[in-house]
Amino acid sequence: MNELLKEVLKYIPDKAEILEPGFEGANIVLYTKSKEFLLNNSDIIKNIVDAVKKRIELRPDPSLLMDQEKAEKEIKKLVPEEAGLTNIIFDVPRSKVILEASKPGLAIGKSGEILKEIKKKTFWIPLVRRTPPIKSQITDKIRSVLYENNDYRKKFLNKVGERIYGGWTNEKKDIWIRVSILGAGRQVGRSCLLLQTPESRVLLDCGIDVAAQDPNDSYPMLEAPEFDINKLDAIIITHPHTDHCAFVPYLYKMGYKGPVYFTEPGRDIASLMALDYISVGQKENKKIIFGSVDIKEMVKHSITLDYDEVTDITPDIRITFYDAGHTLGSAMVHLNIGNGLHNLLYTGDMNYETSNLLSAAITRFPRLETMIMEATYGGSNENYPTRKEAEELLAKTIKATIERDGKVLMPVLGTGRAQEIMVIIDKMIRNSQLDKIQVYVQGIVWDITAIHTAYPDFFNSNVRKMVFHKDQNPFLSDIFKRVGSRQEMQEVLELGPCIILATSGMMVGGSSVEYFKELADNPRNSLIFSSYLGKGSLGRRISDGEKEFNIDGKQISMKMEVVAIKGFTGHSTRERLISFVRHLDPKPKKIILVHGDNSNCLDLASNLHKMFRIETNAPKNLEAIRLR
Ligand code: ZN
Repeated sequence: MNELLKEVLKYIPDKAEILEPGFEGANIVLYTKSKEFLLNNSDIIKNIVDAVKKRIELRPDPSLLMDQEKAEKEIKKLVPEEAGLTNIIFDVPRSKVILEASKPGLAIGKSGEILKEIKKKTFWIPLVRRTPPIKSQITDKIRSVLYENNDYRKKFLNKVGERIYGGWTNEKKDIWIRVSILGAGRQVGRSCLLLQTPESRVLLDCGIDVAAQDPNDSYPMLEAPEFDINKLDAIIITHPHTDHCAFVPYLYKMGYKGPVYFTEPGRDIASLMALDYISVGQKENKKIIFGSVDIKEMVKHSITLDYDEVTDITPDIRITFYDAGHTLGSAMVHLNIGNGLHNLLYTGDMNYETSNLLSAAITRFPRLETMIMEATYGGSNENYPTRKEAEELLAKTIKATIERDGKVLMPVLGTGRAQEIMVIIDKMIRNSQLDKIQVYVQGIVWDITAIHTAYPDFFNSNVRKMVFHKDQNPFLSDIFKRVGSRQEMQEVLELGPCIILATSGMMVGGSSVEYFKELADNPRNSLIFSSYLGKGSLGRRISDGEKEFNIDGKQISMKMEVVAIKGFTGHSTRERLISFVRHLDPKPKKIILVHGDNSNCLDLASNLHKMFRIETNAPKNLEAIRLR
């Protein structure tokens, strides 16, 4: 038996009747056959947690559990009607029962008294989850994939634990640490870093660069000699944008069987985007590198973490996710390597500004020696209006368009920007800055919005307050309406003034282009860009002033008003990147810049060095840096 489990068992009295202790990822799981020990053990388990510094979960052996039908009746008796119980799911291998409720607080009861009562009566361990107010098929599907593969998951998570604690020891060893840049070195796109120690090999992000001119430059450089898929311990994904996570299903196709770490919304949105990648690729006859089975494998091997939850992922690496403020559930990864020998922060993409939807990126960490930071807008020539200025321009443009009886088309990125714009429009109408107007939200944007409503805890405190205390969930406002079919799209075009949100943001395919074809020749209409416009994209050509287009054989003369609003970025502006470093506590000794073009990375590296006297570096792809 594993040394750590042996140590845990030493503390446990015989009367506890623990049969076979095991792991669930980094957590230790004990199943007891004693009802008495299950209900009254608090001190014993607490003392073990203090001694071994690992999370321990005590669960009832399945033989103790009340029959499901009876338990369901009992639960319905105990949970008050006002809690809005919508679903009861029994997770048999884990002896848990999941209660989905519209008002989770009421299902939990004062200091958890209802849950305690359920456990005492049925011996099932109750967990309460919020019923998403907008139903999301993808979230349901992911939950059913996890559920159907419960037995596989149990074995898989135990194996992950065996690997993490295989050479378990509390002693410090002097080790070397090295990071290889396999993508996003002096470029935006295909983010991928390989972190190695004598014990561990971990990938940080693994994305695809969809804008690459040469298809060979689309994927991370996994041909680097130090990468071996058979020796990979873990993948960590900061957030579900294509350039950070889209290559992950392919690794499962190639035979990877280890864990991939996400936040919960990160996992859901990444899966949805991967499915969308397949369906868009099929429609546009592009080369598709993985199938839906590979996405399923990704979900089956996913481990989700909350912000601030410290978790071992290999024998010498412990990670914690911190809020990055970039998209829903986006994370910066803090890696404690070698039991505190070295602390590394990888920011992924981050925004050091409170947006209309999310909080600003965190700047306080327990310890910090090296930081790998994004430099998207790090150059001194990058100037952006403030969010407030951007909002004013948005309101002005919408108002003018509506007054002249036109429609507003907003091509948006499915994740992040679209939802922030929904919140802004809802806010403007509430504040009477705008008259009430219908906003049509195209398919995938709506689906991602539905995922947002399943995880309100990840919003900033303002939006959380609206959702939890004022019953004013901005996404549930009746101004928003989903548009799915062609027929519905046609109806929108025939109606009067309205706002239309559709992907893609750069107008490279997707319904934004379909709408554009119909709306372009009417000068009453307007087109508002809010995302980054890549070179060569239709969006960029329009915003550069081109007027005549031939799209799928249709000749189009551009007569709409065009406005590009830059201030809604999910990235930190240069000023905020610098301010982020200024506020870091503690300050790192070394900063490595990635995820910016050549000049932005170099420019920011030299500036940060001058301002803070910190060693900086802007490595190219395939370069490796020794951290220790
Ligand atoms: Zn991103």
